[in-house]
Order: sequence, then structure tokens, then C-alpha cells
Amino acid sequence: MINKFLSFIVSLIILLSIVLFFVFYLEENETDFELLQREGDDPMPTGLHPKVAKKRDQLVARAEEKGIEVVITEGFRTIKEQEEIYERGRSEKGNIVTYAEGGESYHNYGLAIDFALRNKNEKVIWDTEYDGNGNGKSDWMEVVEIAKDLGFDWGGDWRRFKDYPHFQMDMGYSIRELKNGFRPEIPKGSDQTPKGE
Ligand SMILES: [Zn+2]
Repeated sequence: MINKFLSFIVSLIILLSIVLFFVFYLEENETDFELLQREGDDPMPTGLHPKVAKKRDQLVARAEEKGIEVVITEGFRTIKEQEEIYERGRSEKGNIVTYAEGGESYHNYGLAIDFALRNKNEKVIWDTEYDGNGNGKSDWMEVVEIAKDLGFDWGGDWRRFKDYPHFQMDMGYSIRELKNGFRPEIPKGSDQTPKGE
């Protein structure tokens, strides 16, 4: 009698565990599941989004007004190029420069730029303390301030990997959505900025 009762309880516990496992498993994967159902078919961009290109130009112009020369070192990056720089500090020599694999960076969708400064000796520098215009503020942080004002997010604000030269504009799109083939709209009549510009 007791044995029967015990085996009944054990079976009940096992059954309950199975049910709970599926409930939690499905719940956790629900978002993945939903996103997998939705597939966009927007083509991969070939250059910077026109809005990002425009903001980039405004950033350079507004910094110049403050006596700061901004150099844009990177804009659109193909997935292949992203895969190459991902290997730096991993299978290749050098320091880790990114945590984003191919297709996981906003650069791959034309929504990010990187910058540096040009100092008085015409040298391109990544010195975040440099105060070339002599107003007592770091030029780097002045550029960051302008960029944020223009609507860019700054990589220096990231918690995991601080990417000080990086600005991006997600336009409400997550990397997952972009990877799934959804893209921010490109206004009619405006072309994507060709790569390298
Ligand atoms: Zn970047």
C-alpha cells in the first residue's frame, strides 16, 4: 500500500517536471520562435544609410566650428570585412577590436561610423584627452557630445566593451531584426552613400 502510494507520488513528480520543463523551455524560446517566423527580404545595404551619412557630415562640420578636425575612419563594413576584423586578437595576431561577428555590427548595415581626431601636426590620433582647441575640454568628448546631440549612440557608453571611436544609429532596429532581413527605410530619391565615401 505504502509502496503503491510512493510510486504514485514519484510518477507525479516526474510528470510535473516534464510539464514544467516544456512550459519554461517554450517561454524562453518564444521570442526566438516568433522572430524566426518573420523573415524580411530587404537587400543588404552597400553603403551608409543616407540619414547616417548626413549626420556624419553634420558631425564633422559642427566639430570644425569648434576647431576640432574629425577624421571618419570607418563607415559601412561588409560582413566579410567584419569577419576578418573579428579574428584579430583571436585566430589572428593583435588586440581584440570587436565583439561583433559578421552580421552582428551596425557597421554591416550602414548604421555606424568610427572616428578619430587630426591634431595640429596633421597626425591622426585616438587620444581622448587631447585638447587641441584649448578650451579646457577634451576634444574627443566634445565630439561625443555633438554626436549624441545629433542622435548617435556612443560605443564609449557600452558596458561590456567600450568602443570609444564608435557611433551608431539603430533607428529602432535590433541586430536580430537586421540579420533577419529587416532594414530601416531609405527615403525616396536618396541613394546610399557608396562605400569608401
Ligand atoms: Zn565602430
